[in-house]
Amino acid sequence: MSGGALDPRTASAFPMAAKAAMSDGQMRKNVRHATEVIQAKRARVVAEMPDWQELREAGKQIRQHTMLYLDVYLEQFEDNCSRAGGVVHWARDAEEARKIVVDLVKASGSRDVIKIKSMTTEEIGLNRALEGAGIQPIETDLAELIIQLGKDQPSHIVVPALHKNRQQIREIFQREMNLLELGEDPQDLADAARKFLREKFLHVKTAVSGANFLIAETGGVCVVESEGNGRMCLTLPETLITIAGIDKVLPRFRDLEVMLQLLPRSATGERMNPYNSIWTGVNASDGPRVFHVVLLDNARTTILADHESRQTLNCIRCAACQNACPVYRQTGGHAYGSVYAGPIGAILTPQLMEMHHAQSLPYASSLCGACYEVCPVKINIPEVLIHLRNKVVRRNTSGFPGMFSPEAVAMKALAAIFRSEKRFRAAQRLGRMAEGPLVRKDGWINWLPGVLGGWTKSRDLQEMPKETFRDWWDKRGKA
Ligand code: SF4
Repeated sequence: MSGGALDPRTASAFPMAAKAAMSDGQMRKNVRHATEVIQAKRARVVAEMPDWQELREAGKQIRQHTMLYLDVYLEQFEDNCSRAGGVVHWARDAEEARKIVVDLVKASGSRDVIKIKSMTTEEIGLNRALEGAGIQPIETDLAELIIQLGKDQPSHIVVPALHKNRQQIREIFQREMNLLELGEDPQDLADAARKFLREKFLHVKTAVSGANFLIAETGGVCVVESEGNGRMCLTLPETLITIAGIDKVLPRFRDLEVMLQLLPRSATGERMNPYNSIWTGVNASDGPRVFHVVLLDNARTTILADHESRQTLNCIRCAACQNACPVYRQTGGHAYGSVYAGPIGAILTPQLMEMHHAQSLPYASSLCGACYEVCPVKINIPEVLIHLRNKVVRRNTSGFPGMFSPEAVAMKALAAIFRSEKRFRAAQRLGRMAEGPLVRKDGWINWLPGVLGGWTKSRDLQEMPKETFRDWWDKRGKA
């Protein structure tokens, strides 16, 4: 039932994928409209908070502190969750996580599972693994259901079907639910999904969820959502399996006070999510009788070891950076070839892939800083992007000493020029002579020959000044 998962290992490089995406006018219109609506809502509710900047700083401090003591807090979470009756599993990578979940579902005896929207399960390609084992995953979040029925891929962290409009959703529901008379009113579409899912909620015995936060102090798990489908999945089935990245942990219960103000405002422009579920282990008289948590590493510890990009793990997956990004708003999410699109995808995906794949993603940004401005936990995305670009260049040149890399040659030449005043002055004279025929009447250069043309493909250069400050100073001394 699910389409092929987005896989950065096989996806086209971003420039090619973006070019293809840009030719889809309807998708671009849908993405522009949806991101504008969410951004306006976010701006309204953020403006109500006189201490928004202090809250952001508090969020940043909590996340930074957590990452410094991640091992301690994860063990604390494991102890407390186990004490409350939960079973904690550790998964080194996606393959291990898939195997654990599939085995657990098989052990529960279920042939189908209901699912709450979870980017972590998308990251590990869980649906395909379940289907491969003869288990039917049923997405219960409205947007995820649209994606699943349409055999599509998520394009946004919070609103996975953001690239679809109402007419397109109606067509999917008409076809897949056999509802030929269905209207395109949001209420009609929600009613159709509700009827479709209600029967599944009542009969399916196993649920799979993600987690917004894990609380070390109590061993509790927190999921926030807007539709109530999550609450049904968390309370009705007999077995609940939660899969969460190890970065989702928070030290104390009271840290939620900060996070549950930052997250809904940044994600959906709501003051508070309509459904905030927090549960700890199992309870004999209420909710699932069996509860498992799978803690997923999948390269997160490698990211943690890199001081300059560690802040990536502070992310609380609000998608505010996606909505604000001028690149994402033009290309939509699929061009990123990963479940994590937009600025957070541009820094997270290459690192999850340990820089082996998705090397074009750190360049999928104009470095305008809009993502940094809206990030509720103040992740300096442009700083991480530059760090990753650096790594890409080093990786592409260091392992192959004889390999010709125009960028490496240019940087070496520049370093030699900057090291000597004589060479620097000679280069300036040469530059002035060479640029003559290239300068347009307005004083700009928009074409350079050969490999240098890569630079002017997307930027104009200003003509060099006729006289440098030093020349002027020397002349003045002589006068
Ligand atoms: S990087 Fe910041 S703005 Fe982007 S999804 Fe993560 S928390 Fe939200």
